[in-house]
Amino acid sequence: MEVISTHNQLLKNIETFEKYLKDKQYDREKTLKLIKRGACFVVYKANGEIKFAPSRFLGYKNNSLKLHTNSVVKDGRITNPAISKILNETLFFYEELEQKFLKYCKTLGIEPDNKKRKYWNSIAKLRLEIPDYSVSEGSLYLKTHLAKERNRFVVALAKANFKNEHGKLFCEACKENHLEKYGKDYEGCIEAHHMLPVSKMKEGHKTKAKDFVMLCANCHRIVHRKNPWLTTIEEIRKIVQKTKRG
Ligand SMILES: [Zn+2]
Ligand SMILES: [Zn+2]
Repeated sequence: MEVISTHNQLLKNIETFEKYLKDKQYDREKTLKLIKRGACFVVYKANGEIKFAPSRFLGYKNNSLKLHTNSVVKDGRITNPAISKILNETLFFYEELEQKFLKYCKTLGIEPDNKKRKYWNSIAKLRLEIPDYSVSEGSLYLKTHLAKERNRFVVALAKANFKNEHGKLFCEACKENHLEKYGKDYEGCIEAHHMLPVSKMKEGHKTKAKDFVMLCANCHRIVHRKNPWLTTIEEIRKIVQKTKRG
């Protein structure tokens, strides 16, 4: 595998890495393992959030999970100098970045290996705006997902059913009593999130009102950013709590 030599090649790999984090369960889990086990990290900012990606993935040109898994040679002694050269930064242990890394792992729901880690302090040099929903493999699913959430008829029905059952609209993830805080207008901030597992997404599946959960705008945003593939309200609650605590 060829080692990267330009800033753009590095950015491209970060984008690929980000895509995996937002992809289906399987790719995401593999990617989380890479973060968990990593020793040398490139620090970047994606959509305003500070993130970390391991050098052994980023160091090879046009890398992918498939290439990465199949390749035998993944040598930090080759990739690290290449990245240092591109970033014009040395690899170093920064206590501050280590703390940020641990926090990042918490939001991802992983416990990193107990080892010495080093970082390129490259936040200022690597700022990315990554479109939330345009990931290749998952894109069809996400497109349908968003389309369903914009389908006014089903959404209105889902909300009406929910209101019938519970007497009011509220966020099923944070359960905060926004209604008391903000008054009646608040109900307008409750959004219907579509939660049908990808495995059940067959062509021609009729969207039903019960495929939706009710989320406040905050929680809905968190879920779409972190992982739109969650299939139970418990998983959604977990990720919302982690993010809010983090
Ligand atoms: Zn909420
Ligand atoms: Zn949604």
